[in-house]
Amino acid sequence: MHAMVLREAGKPLELTELPVPQPNAEQLLLRVESCAVCRTDLHVVDGELRDPKLPLIPGHQIVGIEEATNTRFGVPWLAWTCGVCVYCRSGRENLCDNAKFTGYTVDGGYAQYAVADRRYCFPIPDNYTSAEAAPLLCAGLIGFRAYRMTGDAARIGFFGFGSAAQILVQIARADGREVYAFTRDGDSAAQQFARDMGAVWASGSSVTPPHPLDAAIIFAPEGLLVVTALRNLVKGGTVICAGIHMSDIPSFPYEMLWNERSIRSVANLTRADGEQFFQRIASLTIETRRTIYPLDRANDALADLRDGRLTGTAVLDPRLLDHRHRDHRGEAVTL
Ligand SMILES: [Zn+2]
Ligand SMILES: [Zn+2]
Repeated sequence: MHAMVLREAGKPLELTELPVPQPNAEQLLLRVESCAVCRTDLHVVDGELRDPKLPLIPGHQIVGIEEATNTRFGVPWLAWTCGVCVYCRSGRENLCDNAKFTGYTVDGGYAQYAVADRRYCFPIPDNYTSAEAAPLLCAGLIGFRAYRMTGDAARIGFFGFGSAAQILVQIARADGREVYAFTRDGDSAAQQFARDMGAVWASGSSVTPPHPLDAAIIFAPEGLLVVTALRNLVKGGTVICAGIHMSDIPSFPYEMLWNERSIRSVANLTRADGEQFFQRIASLTIETRRTIYPLDRANDALADLRDGRLTGTAVLDPRLLDHRHRDHRGEAVTL
């Protein structure tokens, strides 16, 4: 099979031919149809997350077919938990001391085939194509965990409007909440995208919103935004940090936190989060803006995300390889 492999943090992924992985008794072997790119992939590839498995196949928003049963499964970030640590035994397997993570400590989905522990996979609803479903598997699942942390907030600020925000704004709207989107200053394309997807207001992050926020979710990896969000928060409001990595948070006066404001992070997901997410969206049709890249253009997808050139979600399609754009007669085709 072909895979995009990280050999050393900070270096581009390399297109590599590898044997198809062999599943153990607990695992599914999946023929990958789509793997959505997450900002966490960027943190792994760029070396901001320490000690990845090396060499590594990144990617943790995988939709693939189990060929034996012709069934479609989604593979999320949480690959395995120990079941015996204090966190596992208290319903918090997202915090498991011994957890394994897809595309970080075990191989992921930037490949034509992947194996995954079936106990952590989710069946994919029939009304989504694989490319439509892939962004749901982290941006949706972990995003939904962050969204639930906002409690019954009526006005929620989203700082950074990418893959997770475009999904959550649709759930928030269906729940009767108002979303205020904050993007990089001057990024009018992202602001228009946020409004198109259902935000009631969108502007640069230096702009004060028309109403104070009941809660805020920080998606962008920028610590300064925590302070910005706090400044715009009502008494008792919460700032949720949804990313796995963030630049340092600048110091701020205690009075900004006073009056029972809080700051918290959201880490990983539990299988229950995934089940609740798919239940919640059963009555909705989540639409996402996506850019499809052939598997071997994963480095371009990561660069576009890194440099803010992407609107919505990048999705790799391992069925497409740039250097193999040929039909069954061997003639070049246009994708
Ligand atoms: Zn555990
Ligand atoms: Zn992710």
